Amino acid sequence: MLTITDLHASVEEKNILKGLNLDVKPGEVHAIMGPNGAGKSTTGYVLSGRDGYTVEKGSAVLDGVEILEMEAEERARAGLFLAFQYPVEIPGVSNLEFLKASVDAQREARGEVAYTSAEFLKLAKEACKQVDLPLAFLKRGVNEGFSGGEKKRNELMQMILLKPKLCILDETDSGLDIDAMQVVANGVNSQRSPDRSFIIVTHYQRLLDYIKPDFVHVLSDGKIVKSGDASLAKELEAEGYAWIHNEPKDEL
Ligand code: ADP
Ligand code: MG
Ligand code: MG
Repeated sequence: MLTITDLHASVEEKNILKGLNLDVKPGEVHAIMGPNGAGKSTTGYVLSGRDGYTVEKGSAVLDGVEILEMEAEERARAGLFLAFQYPVEIPGVSNLEFLKASVDAQREARGEVAYTSAEFLKLAKEACKQVDLPLAFLKRGVNEGFSGGEKKRNELMQMILLKPKLCILDETDSGLDIDAMQVVANGVNSQRSPDRSFIIVTHYQRLLDYIKPDFVHVLSDGKIVKSGDASLAKELEAEGYAWIHNEPKDEL
């Protein structure tokens, strides 16, 4: 699904990613944890093609296609979806219009006909219910005045409608209460499928009580320094990150 090889990237001439390798197979859920400033968000931005991030070296192949050379829009059409720590607000553009434009663009890229307004409205209403948002949110400006939890639900709705191949969630649990976190987890779990993969960036283990990852990785100073199964997240919660740079935990 996604193979990242020896990825080096910089922002403002500062090297942030320093040889990142990651292999995500179809249907897998990978969690990325790690200390502040390790390069977790940068990884998401580089993969999504955000301006200001320079790839120095390496590759990222999504479903057999190198994505690092593509424009951000092309990457989204290739099936990449990013949910961010701080979702953008787009006042004046209704959520429904925004969602339909995104879905239409993706369908067009796949050679599929656009939905009619009526067809799309029906799908959007179903998605809205699925993430437990009142239907009024379809008419409101994109994320305009939404609470933290509502923004996350809104992102999940985008994900449900866009049906991406690979979803990256960057600290999508930050600032959420337990109920909202469960909505995020349920939304993600409902979208898990053998042909869709997830990379979930999180500071806290608790989200991973609800979304069971197949693999957990620790990103530190721009590369993955340790990988394991879900139990690694529990160890990190208990022990922090310092031990990874010292003695291997197994030998203690
Ligand atoms: P994480 O998400 O793991 O906490 P980030 O990927 O956000 O880390 O940041 C990695 C490093 O890159 C940090 O040291 C951060 O200060 C730096 N960084 C991120 N964006 C910029 C920028 N626009 N200009 C300069 N440094 C940046
Ligand atoms: Mg951070
Ligand atoms: Mg971050």
